[in-house]
Amino acid sequence: MRVVPQVLLLQALLLVSLAQGAELRVMASIFPVADMVRQVGGQRVEVQVLIPPGADPHGYEPPPSVVRQLREAELFFQVGAGLELWAEGLLKAAGAKRVLLTEGMRLLSQGPGGQANPHVWLDPLLAVQMTEKIKEALLEADPPGGPLYEANARRFIQALRALDEEIRRELSALRGREFASLHPAWDYFALRYGLRSLGSIRPSPSRPASPRALARLARRLREAKVRVVLAEEQMSLREARVLASEAGARVVLLDPLGGVPGRDSYLALMRYNLRKLLEALRNEQGS
Ligand SMILES: [Zn+2]
Repeated sequence: MRVVPQVLLLQALLLVSLAQGAELRVMASIFPVADMVRQVGGQRVEVQVLIPPGADPHGYEPPPSVVRQLREAELFFQVGAGLELWAEGLLKAAGAKRVLLTEGMRLLSQGPGGQANPHVWLDPLLAVQMTEKIKEALLEADPPGGPLYEANARRFIQALRALDEEIRRELSALRGREFASLHPAWDYFALRYGLRSLGSIRPSPSRPASPRALARLARRLREAKVRVVLAEEQMSLREARVLASEAGARVVLLDPLGGVPGRDSYLALMRYNLRKLLEALRNEQGS
């Protein structure tokens, strides 16, 4: 009868040794990036996420504990393109090596000033490029992990391509459909799958819309008979509701960030959004 506890003890020891087996400690700014790093790094890499679920990544105030975590991290994976501007000072102080995942990517612009649109991770094929960059950075920081990183990256990229095929197939009947959004999170996704954004309430995510811009967008939606306003849980919904009611549209909540139950991997998150989007666009067709 002593067998069972011994097995449990062995399992516990195994778990401890796996946790200690992590060769590299890294941090990622947002959950989708952290999951990509996790997919490639497997158990060799311990990943922490800087921005907790539910927070808005465009304007975040990290608590002091984050500074310590950052100091212990060897690499910091970030989207770049202006998404983590608030972290600049922090990152300089912490000294972790930064990996900018949009480096060299062709970016869309957003807002009146034509700033870069950072929401590249919501396009699975751009996520493939991000995964390649993640693999390169891990390889460089931890060469003995090379074969593992290569194999994991290959497998994850296959899954991303399968996801791309799935979204393409599911949305094929809805090509050309239009929507408005609270902020330009879905522009890369729309471009990839043939949907069209009529405009965003907040062309630049941290700046509230002017009443005049809101009225203008509402008019465009009514004229085009567009009834979908995409918004997200991490931002205030007030403006999205105002626009929807003025345009006779409805607010559809998507989630660009995940990290919550049911959306606890990049793939699960994207499938969640695909389902919500299909539901919204099909409903619109019937109305
Ligand atoms: Zn955003």
